[in-house]
Order: sequence, then C-alpha cells, then structure tokens
Amino acid sequence: MLWALFGCTYAEKPTFDVLVVSIDGTPRALLDEEWATLEVLPAIAAEGSHQNLIVQGVTDTVASHARMLTGFGPEITGVTSARHFGTIPEGLSIPERLRARFGPDLRILFEVNKPYMLGIEDDTQAFWHLAQACDVAANHAMPVDVTPHMLDALAGVGEAPFFAFFHWAAVDEAGHQFDEGSAEQRAALHEVDANLGQVRDALVAMGRWERTLVYVTTDHGFPPGGHSHYEGAEAVWLITTDPEVGLGNYLDQLPWTILDRYGVTVTEPAPPLGGL
Ligand SMILES: [Zn+2]
Ligand SMILES: [Zn+2]
Repeated sequence: MLWALFGCTYAEKPTFDVLVVSIDGTPRALLDEEWATLEVLPAIAAEGSHQNLIVQGVTDTVASHARMLTGFGPEITGVTSARHFGTIPEGLSIPERLRARFGPDLRILFEVNKPYMLGIEDDTQAFWHLAQACDVAANHAMPVDVTPHMLDALAGVGEAPFFAFFHWAAVDEAGHQFDEGSAEQRAALHEVDANLGQVRDALVAMGRWERTLVYVTTDHGFPPGGHSHYEGAEAVWLITTDPEVGLGNYLDQLPWTILDRYGVTVTEPAPPLGGL
C-alpha cells in the first residue's frame, strides 16, 4: 500500500467529528435555573444526555482546563492553579494525541477566549504544546466576539474530519463582575447559548452535525451569589450527543471518553480514571 512506502503509520481517518465546548464559569445551579428558557443547550441534551460532573482540585480556569484537555491532574501536568503552573509537558493533550494518531488528515481547531488563562503565545504558557498540534489555534480576549472565528475555522475544514475545542468566556466574566446568579450572568449564558446555536447551524449547513459528537461543559461554577470561584465551585455538568456516555463522576474523565472514541489508548503515564 502506498502509505507504507512513505513509512507512514497513521491510523485511518475518523469517520466522525468531535466538538468540545467549554462555557467558562457556568455553575450547575445557574444552568438549571435558566434551562427552561435556553434554546440550544436543551436541544443538544435532547439528542443525548445532560448530566452532572465534579471538578477536582483547584477550581480555576487554568487548572480545570488542563484537566479537561489532558485528563490528568497537577501531578502530571504541573498545572496546580492560575498562580502556579508551567507549560504542560509535551504530548499530554487531546490535540497532540490525535495529531500523533491521525497525522495531517485530521483538522484540529482551538478557538478560545481568554489569553491570560489559556495561554498559547509562547513556550512558558500552559497550553503551548497543545497549540502546536492544531491547524488553527487562536486566543481572542473579550470583548472580541470569538464566534465568527469559530465559524471561519469550521468553514476551513472542507471535507476533512475535525476535532474542535471552542471556548466562550462571557459567563465567567459576568460572574466576576456582577456575581453568580446576577441578571448579567444569566444574560451572558443566553448569549453564549445563541452563539453555540450559530456553530450548530453552521455544522447542520455543512451536513456535518449528524456525524459530530458534541460535548458541552464548563471548567467550574461559582458559589451561590459569589464573585470568585476558589471554593464551592466544583459542581459542573456535561451536555453531550454521545450516546455511549454513561454516568461519570469527574470532568477528568471526559478526555478519556473522547480518546476512546478515537481509538487512542494511553498507558504511560497511566490514566487516573476511565472514561464516562
Ligand atoms: Zn474559568
Ligand atoms: Zn473566572
């Protein structure tokens, strides 16, 4: 076979796509309170499931996204908190593992909304190595609307299979500025819900929605009425169209679920938890 002549050992192209969405700082309680008036998140849940998860360790954006994107805690990633972290060691993230397995045939997209937390600009920042494995990796500070960049990135995949990680910061920002449960934070959740609807509609228009496994989650919540999330913020959630997701316990299990779907097996360092 031709690929053997070139010494290529990549796996065959996936026949499905994966969209992971992080709606930063969206407490489980707030989501539940707004559920009846949201449109897109409940519609996605209706195609699959909506369940509760717990974030372990420090509930801040850097630490929790390190877990969400690698499946490991600080003893492996070196990311303890937004104050104590280094560059996540090479090879541990979902994008890097997918690149190693599928080579250039898989399009990998990373569009995020918080430069100071999800840093990719230089090799001192936590997500530097992850970003190097992506075809598109961009970090847009608010108030830049990140949604058009997501839509552009999706339009650029053409016929190729994709893995996309998309992140919105508006709910977290409103929580810090106006407190958990404020009218502003609720409005931000509705805005992100509508933006997620634009992403869904784009995938529908591309004829790709049906083959896309969607996982929407958050990095942490806020305590009731709080304006920071150092404590009392571990109750989070997952909305997914993946029919095989069972009842999980921890956000850390999500990466192992996704890697399992792609047929990626990791033995070293040993995964701390199985999938969902
Ligand atoms: Zn956060
Ligand atoms: Zn925050």
